Amino acid sequence: MAKFVVTPASQAQREAWVGGAIPEVERVRPGLWSIPVPIPINPLRYVLVYALELPDGVAIVDAGWNTDEAYDALVAGLGVAGYAITDVKGVLVTHIHPDHYGLAGRIRETSGAWIALHPADAGLVRERYDDEAIDSLVERERALLARCGVPPLTLDELAGASMMIRHMVSMARPDRLVEDGEELGLPGWDLRAVWTPGHSPGHLCFFSPSRRLLLSGDHVLAKITPIVAVHPQSGPNPLADYLDSLAAVRKLDADEVLPAHEYRFLELAERVDYVMAHHDARLAEIEQVVGSLDGVTCWDAATRLTWSRPWETIPPFMRRSANNETLAHLVWLEAKGRVRREPGEPDLWRLP
Ligand SMILES: [Zn+2]
Ligand SMILES: [Zn+2]
Repeated sequence: MAKFVVTPASQAQREAWVGGAIPEVERVRPGLWSIPVPIPINPLRYVLVYALELPDGVAIVDAGWNTDEAYDALVAGLGVAGYAITDVKGVLVTHIHPDHYGLAGRIRETSGAWIALHPADAGLVRERYDDEAIDSLVERERALLARCGVPPLTLDELAGASMMIRHMVSMARPDRLVEDGEELGLPGWDLRAVWTPGHSPGHLCFFSPSRRLLLSGDHVLAKITPIVAVHPQSGPNPLADYLDSLAAVRKLDADEVLPAHEYRFLELAERVDYVMAHHDARLAEIEQVVGSLDGVTCWDAATRLTWSRPWETIPPFMRRSANNETLAHLVWLEAKGRVRREPGEPDLWRLP
């Protein structure tokens, strides 16, 4: 597969990313700011929060993880743009993941801002509020992993998975639900929501036709591809959703993509084509693995795929997401009739 490398829209931002630093606060366009907010213990290092100037303050796209360090970085970044945290009128959240949604509640407490989310992700917040619902979520995850043939988890690993979910419990409920195609109605901005399920069931991108800008969240990024996995809170065929969502943003007439991680860049359509080709190649690789064995579990298939590093060196928690990503590809192939599932404990996968 020929490598396609995007053109950075900001050399300084790209150099900071490549050099392992946190980029500067930047004015992307008149009235539009990019504010890096650090994420603790995560190779992505920061989320890029965008501040959109309004006549009486700012609206921000994404918020950051709920830590003091992130909050302070956001306050300082808004300061560079000439605003205080109390000037935030609205928080548009691309999706429910804690690096995007975590701080939204705290910002609302300080500033009275509204919080907006797509209904599909808003539904997941409600589930995570309830202790019993969280236990059932962990239980469903365990059942899903068992059907994949994942070796039984140690208690420590299970506790880790449960902690991961509990971490998000303090997240606030949204004030405003944003549907596909909705005009946000921000004064001075022709900003429109584009529903892009896949990475998360309610993922939203935001598009400004007059400025020809796409705020892409985690949907399209310069170098990495977002995790698209089957899990208890995913849709039944998240990879199909994701590929459809890529096709939806590919049609947009954008000169620049403003993602939530790494750095902003120019070529939306070419980057989308490359990500689609990457998934095609991955699907072919998985189909080939299924064809080479007489009945394989999802987990065994995952261990035979090429990953960015040798399987043995991937930590257990990340192996589970690798398994769930493999499952997303198997489910997609099953829906197309390219593989079939023999249900059981575990499920076995075969060619038709
Ligand atoms: Zn995410
Ligand atoms: Zn993210």
